[in-house]
Amino acid sequence: METAMLIGSKFEQGTETEEPILNPKTGETILMLPEASQVQIDAAVAAAEKAFETWSRTTPAQRAAYLLKIADRIEAEAEEFAALEALNCGKPINAVLNDEIPAIVDCYRFFAGAVRTLPGAVAGEYLPGFTSMIRRDPIGLVASIAPWNYPLMMMAWKLAPAIGGGNTVVFKPSEQTPLTALKLAGILADILPEGTVNVVLGRGESVGNALINHPKVNMISITGDVATGKKVLQAAAKSVKRTHLELGGKAPVIVFDDADLDAVVTGLRAFGYYNAGQDCTAACRVYAGKGIYEKLVADLSSAVSTIKYGQADDTQNEIGPLISKRQRDRVASFVERAQEQKHIEITTGGSAGEGNGFFYQPTVVAGALQEDEIVRREVFGPVVSVTRFSDVDEAVNWANDSDYGLASSVWTRDVGRAMATAARLQYGCTWINTHFMLTNEMPHGGLKQSGYGKDMSLYALEDYTAVRHVMVAHG
Ligand code: NAD
Repeated sequence: METAMLIGSKFEQGTETEEPILNPKTGETILMLPEASQVQIDAAVAAAEKAFETWSRTTPAQRAAYLLKIADRIEAEAEEFAALEALNCGKPINAVLNDEIPAIVDCYRFFAGAVRTLPGAVAGEYLPGFTSMIRRDPIGLVASIAPWNYPLMMMAWKLAPAIGGGNTVVFKPSEQTPLTALKLAGILADILPEGTVNVVLGRGESVGNALINHPKVNMISITGDVATGKKVLQAAAKSVKRTHLELGGKAPVIVFDDADLDAVVTGLRAFGYYNAGQDCTAACRVYAGKGIYEKLVADLSSAVSTIKYGQADDTQNEIGPLISKRQRDRVASFVERAQEQKHIEITTGGSAGEGNGFFYQPTVVAGALQEDEIVRREVFGPVVSVTRFSDVDEAVNWANDSDYGLASSVWTRDVGRAMATAARLQYGCTWINTHFMLTNEMPHGGLKQSGYGKDMSLYALEDYTAVRHVMVAHG
């Protein structure tokens, strides 16, 4: 197992406080990993700054070739990556192998193509005697900071458009889930020119904070909590750094009375609980029409009660534990507070799992009202609330009455109603009769406190490049 950070071309152990890296399925410590020191952070930044001089002048075709090599190596070592991610996050290994790794490999391949075909405005004579053209050039040194829910995928979403766009990167994985980033660092050192990507380890308040405040960093890209996003903005304001913020979510799911109930239940069972609900797009906030509400709650509760987790034979598991005891306790406290409300009924789940792992039962919270905490705050666990609505205006108003604006879905057999409802939702993404599906060609990112900036798609490449005007006088 790789344990060293990548600074320039050197592999180094951190020299500061050691952090325990846990196996969430058992609660046991896998190993201790030390944090980077300020000297090491400065060295990583200096290496990225130096690499930028040459990397920023490579051609799109050259960068595409590097991205394709990275994709090939991840694909070739898919089983090792999946095993590490499963160990460090508690995910069922098949979910990593069959869902995540192909999407990660495709992300590098998508950006390999995209960097060579980035569209732009035409050049022309907008003043007589002068030719103007638009360039999209790299921004410089990007500090990329990732969360723990999809460690290798978030690394792909951040690295591929950043280095594809000609930037260099200092990457910090979550202090809880650094193992796949360390393995990928070894591969990146084989493939990329020295310093193009550097990987440093440590907590947010120490190493993350040092990175976002570093004077040489030109852009901060972070996926994490809203509170963390606000700290990034404060730090960025000091030297006017660019920011790319992917923060939390609380996805509303509007189910009209004419929806295909079986499809809704199958969809919610899958998309409300995938990754144990530790997903910012999780289908966690259901609004059901009066006519479908009772049956939806009954069918959903019985379907959710069959979700498999915590089995000794991992191939049987559909979801894993939560990432930490702290996160499990946080989820439990949300459900406990919901349970204290008389109008709420926990129709399945509602307790922590057995054993030392950080499991929590897949849970349905029925009868929730718009003002309830369980409807308003991000739980980030296997918990779905269901709220009854009376008409479309109420459903849309409640869906939009949120601090978040990342993902949403509408379920109905009436295509006109689906389109009219989707048009009114203030969310970065609205799915119709599905939820959660992502593809590298399409943008992912939020509105409101879910942040701004897009991952995946050509829009990500735009975010990681700067528009410049170059004008030539004809003389
Ligand atoms: P977090 O904000 O605690 O940590 C995210 C990353 O930021 C970690 O690497 C952490 O070390 C770092 N960090 C924390 N404080 C920092 C600081 N002061 N300065 C610099 N870096 C700092 O979030 P988390 O608990 O790791 O992840 C869960 C959150 O991420 C959830 O709220 C979830 O909704 C969100 N999320 C959003 C998306 C999205 O695409 N919008 C995707 C995944 C997760």
